[in-house]
Amino acid sequence: MTNECIFCKIIQGKIPTDFLYKDDDLVAFRDINPQAPVHVLVVPVKHIPTINVLAEDDLPLIGKMVAAARDIAKNEKISKSGYKLIFNVEKGGGQEIFHIHLHLVGGWK
Ligand code: AMP
Ligand code: ZN
Repeated sequence: MTNECIFCKIIQGKIPTDFLYKDDDLVAFRDINPQAPVHVLVVPVKHIPTINVLAEDDLPLIGKMVAAARDIAKNEKISKSGYKLIFNVEKGGGQEIFHIHLHLVGGWK
């Protein structure tokens, strides 16, 4: 965990946030600036700055994040209509917060 990281602060409860999901490994909450009717961020508790520095030991965590996003999509009733799961990687890839997170976006009519 780092003191400056906004997602670490959210995970630590320093920024009030409604969690859609929370366990020892990851949390999920709605994006503050949604780009779709449903826009949820799935975030590991572990502070990993980018996908580029993902370690071999972290790979099961990524599977867990994808499964959590799938389950949240079902709860949000967008499983059948469809959705996107996106990792933005580094500044050129649109990453603004350097604590990895999976965007779940969908719900378009
Ligand atoms: P990225 O550009 O992939 O790093 O995505 C960062 C996302 O975090 C953006 O979509 C922001 O809207 C979102 N975001 C930033 N601050 C917050 C916050 N306090 N709560 C929820 N989402 C946030
Ligand atoms: Zn962090």
